[in-house]
Parts: sequence; structure tokens; C-alpha cells
Amino acid sequence: MTLSRSTTKVVVVGGAGTIGSSTALHLIRNGYTPSNITVLDVYPIPSAQSAGHDLNKIMSIRRSNKVGLQLSLEALNMWKHDPLFKPFFHEVGMIDCSSSKEGIIALQQKYKSLVEAGMGFEKTTFWLEGHDIQSRVPPFTKEQTEDWKGVLCSDGGWLAAAKAINAIGQFLKSEGVQLRFGGAGTFKQPLFAEDGVTCIGVETTDGTKYHADKVVLAAGAWSPTLIDLEDQCVSKAWVFAHIKLTPEEVKQYKNIPVVYDGEYGFFFEPDENGIIKVCDEFPGFSRFKAHKPFGATSPKLISVPRSHAKHPSDTYPDASEVTIRKAIARFLPAFKEKELFNRTMCWCTDTADASQLICEHPRWKNFILATGDSGHSFKLLPNIGKHVVELIQGSLSPEMAHEWRWRPGGDALKSKRAAAAKDLATLPGWQHDAKL
Ligand code: FAD
Repeated sequence: MTLSRSTTKVVVVGGAGTIGSSTALHLIRNGYTPSNITVLDVYPIPSAQSAGHDLNKIMSIRRSNKVGLQLSLEALNMWKHDPLFKPFFHEVGMIDCSSSKEGIIALQQKYKSLVEAGMGFEKTTFWLEGHDIQSRVPPFTKEQTEDWKGVLCSDGGWLAAAKAINAIGQFLKSEGVQLRFGGAGTFKQPLFAEDGVTCIGVETTDGTKYHADKVVLAAGAWSPTLIDLEDQCVSKAWVFAHIKLTPEEVKQYKNIPVVYDGEYGFFFEPDENGIIKVCDEFPGFSRFKAHKPFGATSPKLISVPRSHAKHPSDTYPDASEVTIRKAIARFLPAFKEKELFNRTMCWCTDTADASQLICEHPRWKNFILATGDSGHSFKLLPNIGKHVVELIQGSLSPEMAHEWRWRPGGDALKSKRAAAAKDLATLPGWQHDAKL
């Protein structure tokens, strides 16, 4: 039976995060009745434990496969032109740089593949020698960048992440979407019809039952802890810290491109409060423990996120302080002595092949997964929900359906990264309360 858009009831679990808020937005843009859409989340939108609850994220084109390329081009277009998203896109470009032999070879390949791909990349991609990098980032010194090479992609930049999710939230509220947070928004389990396989809604931890025609689970790093994903997703934390600049320092760094070096990390221009966020680059941290998600027959080892929102005194491992400081010494040596603050771990969930997991559950009809972000999905905030809605309506392209299918097997602990994630149990320094 085909359901009418105007009467279909949809519950979006994790609707105050990245993929979930985008889904709720596109349900409205597709003619679903706002009061028939229920957004559930632990925290109000923008959820304080969403991976997107952050000052900034990189907007860059992902070329790893056809679907990734299509999605990032679509997203770029919406960040540039969609009135809801445009205010949050800072199109300052991005420099991917390196001074190591292997890193420079990889950059040369990246540059070649971009200019040869056509599609306009040849007009927006530039090879940079050290002095060119210095001229694009004036506070860099000649000595600092002497042996660096880089690729500038001028049509990228950064996204004011939490602010963009907040803008979706304001829109959802103004349209009359049902928003439920706290215990009334925290997913406990799916509800099923008498046949035991047709999902008819969800129950939250306060005991409320929400009945719906379709349920979308977009709970990010928490998804594999909520329902059994058969090890297709492994949740991992990445880290960042901040430094504060004086107004004089801010002037020097204003409007510089995002600077990224795969062996060190990356940083962004200061925000309106003079704050620079610095990230290191590494394969992530896991947090394995025995846990029984809904649908599993017994507890199994699952990497369970622990959010900064619930544990505000958590920071990051001592090892991260060393690597963040190393990134600062590389990019911002004049600020080596500055105090670091808001040291944070931020949780994503990797699949083995780094593509998302967006499909109907193979055994639970009307229960849709929209997860497996693999650490690169914030940039898709404007458009990923459009494709989740296509899946709900049965009009998802065969390429996307194949790319995002249910696919147990493979190694999500390593995924496409340089190494498997290290477990937080082996890394001291991050936990400052006794709570589990
Ligand atoms: P989230 O945005 O985390 O949303 C999940 C939601 O589920 C949350 O709101 C949460 O509160 C909710 N939830 C959890 N449990 C429950 C429950 N029981 N009931 C109801 N709701 C629940 N991507 C980029 O594109 N560019 C970047 O530069 C970039 N940099 C990153 C840097 C770091 C340090 C990190 C950690 C990630 C980065 N990412 C980047 C990745 C990006 O942030 C994620 O891919 C994306 O935000 C994940 O979206 P999501 O919707 O899957 O999860």
C-alpha cells in the first residue's frame, strides 16, 4: 500500500543531530505534514552530544566513489545557494599540505586526479609550493613552509556546524514538528505489530509510546548501542581543543583557508570570538564493553560512546594533548604557549568501507537506518535527509541503495583508516569523574 505524504507519520530518532535533523527538514520540504513528524533526541536541537555540535567542520569534495562525489557536489551547491544553509558556509577554501615524501606524492596524485576529472575542478584546484602557501596564510613564515607543498581547493571551506543544525531546529519548531527530548525523547526500543516484524513506532526510556508508519534511526555513534547492527558500525571518538586569540591576532588569521596536513591535523580561522579549533589526525579511539543492543540475543562487545554532554569533566587522553600540541607547533608555533581549553572527544560511527548505512532493516519492515556516518558526513547536512526521504518513499537511486545497503562483514574497527582504533581503556587522562 502506498502511503500518502500528508498522512504518513514518521518518527526520527536522533532528530536533533546531523542526519536526523536533515531528514526532518526534507520530510517537510517533501510535503509531509509537520505535526505528523516526531523528532526524538536525548538533548534539544542542536543536540549537545551530536558530532555536529561544534564550532566548525570542513566542507570539501569527497571523491572516493561516485555516490560520495555526487553527495558532496549536491551539498556544496546547497551550502552555497540554499537560503537556510548559506549563512553558515565560509567559502575560504582548504589547503591540503605536507612536507613528507609520501605525503607530497599523495598530494600530487590528488591534484592530478582533480584537474583531470574535469567537472570544473580544474578551475578551483591549485598546486602550491611553500611560498604560495605562505602567501595564502600570511602569518605562516618562510622558514615554516619552506619544504611544504599543497593543494588548494578554493570551492571548499568551513561550516558553522552547531549553528546550521540550530537553524534547522528553528525551522522545525516554526513549522510545528513534534519535538521530544530527555526521557521522552530517548529511544528504548522499537514497537512491533502482532506479526513481530512490522515496526509501528518506538518506546522511549520514560515509557512513552510513539506510533508511526515509519521510524528512522539516525542516532549517530549511539546507533550500534541501541539496536544490533551486527558489527557493521564501530563507534569511535576524535578529539579537538581550542585556543583564544587577541583581537590583534585575529586580524592576521581572518579569512585564511582551512589548513590540513594528514600527518598532523588541521585548524580553522578564528570564529567571531577569536577562537581557533585545532584537531589532530589519527584513527580514532574506541570504548569497548559488554552491551546488549535491542535485537541481540546476549551481550556482546560494542564500542559505547560516552559524551561530553553527559560527562562535562571528560577531556581527552594524555596522548592527545601531545598530538594536539604537535599540530599547534606545526601550524601555529607563535601560539605554542597559549592555554588550551574545551578539550573534547566527539563520537562518530565507522563502517568497514566508510560509506553510510542507510537502508530499511532487513527483518523489521518500516524501520529505517540512517547512520554509519564514518566521520565525514557533517558536510552533507543540507542534502543527506533528502535521500533518506527518497528511501522512505521507495525512490532512492539504485546506486545509493547499493552503496548504503545492509552489509555485515568487513572490518569497521579499522575501516579505511591507517590503523585500527586504540581503546580508551588503555589510554589515561580523559576521565575525571567516577560515573560509568
Ligand atoms: P550525530 O550528529 O552525532 O547525531 C546523532 C544524534 O542521536 C545525537 O543528536 C544524539 O543525541 C542522538 N541520540 C543518541 N542516542 C539517542 C537515543 N537513545 N535516543 C534518541 N536520540 C539519541 N564531518 C565533515 O563533513 N567535515 C568535518 O570536518 C568533520 N570533522 C569532524 C571532526 C571531529 C572531531 C568529529 C568527531 C567528526 C567530524 N566530522 C566531520 C564527522 C561528522 O561530524 C559526523 O559524520 C556527523 O556529524 C554524524 O552525523 P549523525 O547524524 O550520524 O550523528
